[in-house]
Amino acid sequence: MQCMECKECMECIVLCVLWRLKGCVFPSMEFCLRPKLENLFSWSKSRHEKLVSCERAYFYHYYLSWGGWEREAPPRVKQLYALKKLTNRYAWAGNAVHEAIRKSLLKWLSAQPVAFEEMMSSLRQHMRREFAASRDGVWQGQFSKSFGGLVEHANAVEVSAEEWKSNWQTVEAALSYFMESAWPRLFQKLKPGQVLEADSKDFESSFFILEGIRLFAMPDVAFVDESQSVHIVDWKTGSPNEGNVEQVVGYALFVEARHGFPALGSRVSLVYLNQKMEQSFVIDEGAIQKFRAFFKASTEAMKAKLLDVPSNTALEESCFLKTNVPGRCVLCPFFKVCEAEVSQGKAPVLKAQSTLL
Ligand code: SF4
Repeated sequence: MQCMECKECMECIVLCVLWRLKGCVFPSMEFCLRPKLENLFSWSKSRHEKLVSCERAYFYHYYLSWGGWEREAPPRVKQLYALKKLTNRYAWAGNAVHEAIRKSLLKWLSAQPVAFEEMMSSLRQHMRREFAASRDGVWQGQFSKSFGGLVEHANAVEVSAEEWKSNWQTVEAALSYFMESAWPRLFQKLKPGQVLEADSKDFESSFFILEGIRLFAMPDVAFVDESQSVHIVDWKTGSPNEGNVEQVVGYALFVEARHGFPALGSRVSLVYLNQKMEQSFVIDEGAIQKFRAFFKASTEAMKAKLLDVPSNTALEESCFLKTNVPGRCVLCPFFKVCEAEVSQGKAPVLKAQSTLL
C-alpha cells in the first residue's frame, strides 16, 4: 500500500485510517508528515554517468522531474517523475542479482541456510510478475517504489522472446557462479559485527561529505577481515571497465568516513559474475588521488550546468544538450517526452510481447 500523494510512504494513510475510526474524514493530504524535500546538490557515480551519457536526460532526471510526486505538480513534471523510475532489462537483471545476493548474505549472517533452487524459483516468479506489470503499463502511474517498469515496454522497443530469455539466463548464470564461488563459504563464517555494509536499501542516508559535497555510495558488501583490514566487494553483471575501479575507491572513502577504517590499505574485489572472473587490489595513495581528481572534475562539470550553485538551481532546459550518440535514445526512460525532437534512434514498433521469462 502506498500514499496516493507522494507514493513514498504510508504515514498519511495511517493517519487517515485513524481519523476514519474516529468518525471523521481526513481533510486532505496537506497533512503529509514527511518533511518537505529539498533538491540538494550531491554526487554519485551514476549521476556522473548520466551527465556524460546525455545532458538532457541528466536535466530531466535530477531537476525537471523534481517534485513530480506532488499533487499540484505540472503534468510534464509528473510524467518525468514516473518515467525516471523506468529501468532497462540489463539493469533490471543486475538489480535482481544484487538483491538475491544481499538477501543470501543477510540469511547467512543470521545463521539461516540458503536453498539455491528455492531462491531461483522465487526470483523467477518475482521477475515474471514485474515483467507482466511492466508490459501492462505500470510506468503509466501505478508504479511502486521498488519497480517502475521497463524502458523496453514504455518505448515500444522490439525485444524477441529469445532476448528476454537470455536476460533471465544472465541472472541465473550470475547467481550460479556466485553460489559456486568461495564467497558463500566466507560469508557464512562472518560474524554480524564484522559486516560494515551490506548493500543498504536506505539510499537517502547512504552518503558522506567530501569537499563540502554529499557523495552517495552504496557498497555491495564491506567487512572487516581477520587482519582487521576492510574488504569491499562489488558484484558486476556487466563487463570490466576503468570506471568500476573509481567507484570502489569512492566506496572505500565512504567506509572510512562512516566507520573510521582507513581507505588506504583497504582490499577491494570486483567480482564479474557473468565473466567468472575477479579483480582484486589494495587501495594505495595513487588510487585515492586519482579518485579525488575524477570527483573534482566531475562535480565542476555538474556545477557548470547550474545557474546558482548554493540553491542547486539548474540552467534552462535548452542548455542541456541532447546526446548525438546513435542508438542511445532507444533505451532512454525519457524517450517518450524527448522523441519528437530526437533525430536518431527511434524505437521500432512493438510486436506482441506476451512472452514471459
Ligand atoms: S531521448 Fe535521447 S536525447 Fe532525449 S533525453 Fe533521452 S538520451 Fe537524451
